Formats: sequence, C-alpha cells, structure tokens
Amino acid sequence: MNPDYDLIIIGGGAGGLTAAIYAMRAALKTVLIEKQMAGGQILMTDEVENYPGFIHISGAELAQKFEAHAKSYDLETISREVVALEPGLNHHTVRLDNGERLTAHAVIIATGGTPRKLGVPGEADLHGKGVSYCATCDGFFFRGKTVLVVGGGDTAAEEALYLSKICKTVYMAHRRDQLRASRILQQRLSATENIHMLWSTTVSEIHAGTDGVERVALKNAATGEIRELDVEGVFVFIGFTPNNALVPEETRMNTDGMVITNDKCETNTPGIYVVGDLREKLARQIVLSAADGCVAALSAAFYVEFKNTPS
Ligand code: NAP
Repeated sequence: MNPDYDLIIIGGGAGGLTAAIYAMRAALKTVLIEKQMAGGQILMTDEVENYPGFIHISGAELAQKFEAHAKSYDLETISREVVALEPGLNHHTVRLDNGERLTAHAVIIATGGTPRKLGVPGEADLHGKGVSYCATCDGFFFRGKTVLVVGGGDTAAEEALYLSKICKTVYMAHRRDQLRASRILQQRLSATENIHMLWSTTVSEIHAGTDGVERVALKNAATGEIRELDVEGVFVFIGFTPNNALVPEETRMNTDGMVITNDKCETNTPGIYVVGDLREKLARQIVLSAADGCVAALSAAFYVEFKNTPS
C-alpha cells in the first residue's frame, strides 16, 4: 500500500522550510508539520547580518521570506504537534497530537533546539515575569530599565547589543574571563557605553519583587564572593538543548544529544533524515540549516524514487 506522502517534514525553521522548497521543486508529495509559527529560531533573532544576500535583515522578516518562498509552491502544511515518529520497513509513521497518523516513504526531522536554562532558584517561577530567553520578543517591556544578560556566545552578545538600544543599563555576566562570541561582536560590545561586563560571574539566584524580577545573586567564579545586583530583567542566552524527542531509539546520537548523520543528512535509519541544529556539526547557523534542508530533500528525492521503482 502506498503511504500518504512521499515526504513528511517535521519543523518549520530554516532547515525544514528549505527542505520543503527543494522537495516541492522535485515534485515530491510533501507535507510540513509545525506546531508553532514558521521560522523556528530565526524568529528569536533580532538582526541577521550573515545570511548571504542580506547585509541586514530582521529575523522576523527573513522567517517570513522563507515561509512565503516555500508556500509559493503550494506546499501543504499542518499546524499540529508531532508526538511520535515510528520507523517502519515499508514506510514511516508520524503521529499527531490529535491522534491522526500520517505515513511517508521519507521523513526529515528539522526540530532544532530550545534555549538552555540556568537551573537556579527563581528562574522557572519568574519566567515571563522578568526572566526571558528572547530579547526581540520581550525587550520592549524593559524600555529604560536595567537588565542582566547571561552568557558569552554570539547570541548573548547580539541580544545584549539589541537590549542596549532599549534599556538604560545592560550588565552582561559571563562565567569566564573571555567571550566565546565572534571578534566583531566583542568589538561592538566594548564600544557600547551602557553595556557593562561582569567577568567570571555566574547567577546563583533570581529574586522576585512585587512586579517580577527585582535583583539577582551573583557569584564570582574566581573568588567565590557572592553579591547582589538590582535588575528588572534577566535574559538568558547560554546555548540550547537539541529537540531530539522524536528521534527514533536506534538512531545514532552524540553525547550532547545531536544526531549523527552522513553528508547527505541521512541517519542510520533508511528514509529518516535530520537537518539543522539537531544535527551534529561544526556550527549552528541559518545558512547551514538551509544547506542541510537542501541536501536532505535531494537525498530524500532519490530515496523515494528508489522506493517507487518496481523491483
Ligand atoms: P554558544 O556558542 O554555545 O554559547 C553559549 C554561552 O553560554 C557560552 O559563552 C557558555 O560559556 C555559556 N554557558 C553555557 N552554559 C552555561 C551555564 N550553565 N551558565 C553560564 N553560562 C553558560 O551558544 P549561542 O551563543 O546560542 O550560539 C549557538 C550557535 O549559534 C553558535 O555556533 C553561534 O556561533 C551561532 N550564532 C551565530 C550568530 C551570528 O553569527 N550572527 C548569532 C547567534 C548564534 P563558555 O564560553 O564558558 O562555554
């Protein structure tokens, strides 16, 4: 019996949407399933300055362009959560949160990752009340206020720069005495007067006042000294956790939970591909997720043709 689709794509970020563009152009019967808004992590990015062809574009606008491009091929989309992926010999089955089951020859998992949490007291209770993982989404609420950014990578640096345009003062706490962020972002941070670096500093607790976050307890990693700092917002950018819940059990992953694929984005389960931030690779960039989406869709097209060829 023929499956419902040639290809099911799970996730509508840069990887999933690019896979959809290539799959539609290869005339695969395709459906893309996304539980939230299309765009994925691009939506969490304020400004994108390293996607070729766009010297400067907002994350929201780039996400819209990706989606509009994919939909220009009459791509079928489903706005639901996928709760399980069951690999099979003849075809793979995807189960949705409404109990529906869809089958396909090939599945591309493009579920990315979610922001890593500090795991300190106060963080979970104050999420949405001063603790945030997205400056573009929540920065507006901290206009003229004092906030703390936690992290030392590209994301923390970019988001601190974004917040510096809105907030009165931005403290940036990094657990080491050297940033991981790229040199160009480090130069911009140093040149921004209202950003103050707190080196070798970790957050040990976030305290609530009457209207949300009121202050944080900070620990100096070198001396062990604890001090308190009054801030009204805490923005956490300390990396992310791969969304690997749908990855079938027998699929090879590394110790960080990233899926190991070959250069065709194939997993060790035939017909199941992984793209974007969930895939083990050197860097997590929009352009790399898009490239993965292209490769996986082209590989899937060969695979589907092989499955459809009578033996
Ligand atoms: P990242 O590069 O993994 O950096 C995470 C930062 O958080 C590191 O500085 C790390 O400290 C710190 N950290 C991790 N766990 C922590 C903890 N429990 N407590 C305190 N600090 C902690 O993550 P990212 O900044 O989200 O970037 C992810 C990827 O996207 C990277 O490849 C990055 O280059 C890329 N990216 C690129 C751009 C751009 O080029 N425009 C923008 C955003 C992201 P250590 O340094 O001590 O490990």
